[in-house]
Amino acid sequence: MVDREKIKKAVRLFLEGIGEDPDREGLRETPERIARMWEEFESMRNFDMKIFEEFGSYNEMVLVKDIRFYSFCEHHLLPFFGKVHIAYIPDGVICGLSKLVRSVRSFALRPQVQERLTEEIADFLEKELKPQGVGVVIEAEHLCMSIRGAMSPGHITVTSALRGAFLKDMRTREEFLKLVKG
Ligand SMILES: [Zn+2]
Repeated sequence: MVDREKIKKAVRLFLEGIGEDPDREGLRETPERIARMWEEFESMRNFDMKIFEEFGSYNEMVLVKDIRFYSFCEHHLLPFFGKVHIAYIPDGVICGLSKLVRSVRSFALRPQVQERLTEEIADFLEKELKPQGVGVVIEAEHLCMSIRGAMSPGHITVTSALRGAFLKDMRTREEFLKLVKG
């Protein structure tokens, strides 16, 4: 559970720590705003993933490209954001696009690292869909890198997680990666 009072105290202290006056006009509501924002994030994490359609004997690759996401680097609490590409080979069960989007969001809206986000989405879909295989690729820009000039702005980090057929079958993997790039 998000503790609104703790967040408010912490943000106020943080603002003082960087030499700001937390009581000046623009900042006065900031602790409350940030607390409410994290409450909202928390509520977006809870969704019902259990509604699945049976889809007969369809067993070709399902690919959903370019799911936009926003997350927070857990080292700096600054956003990293970009696109998630998800593919799976069903084994009797598929899920709607909105479920994929929500599952991405539920793992993204918390302090994260891109590698773990990629793995968590893959593990979750593997558990829920029990597909023949699943592949997740994330392309993201990290503000903590772009702002500080450690990397050129717009630098994209790519991570991937492969399960089942995507791991074992080279042709499946290559098809997936080609579709993602194309
Ligand atoms: Zn960072």
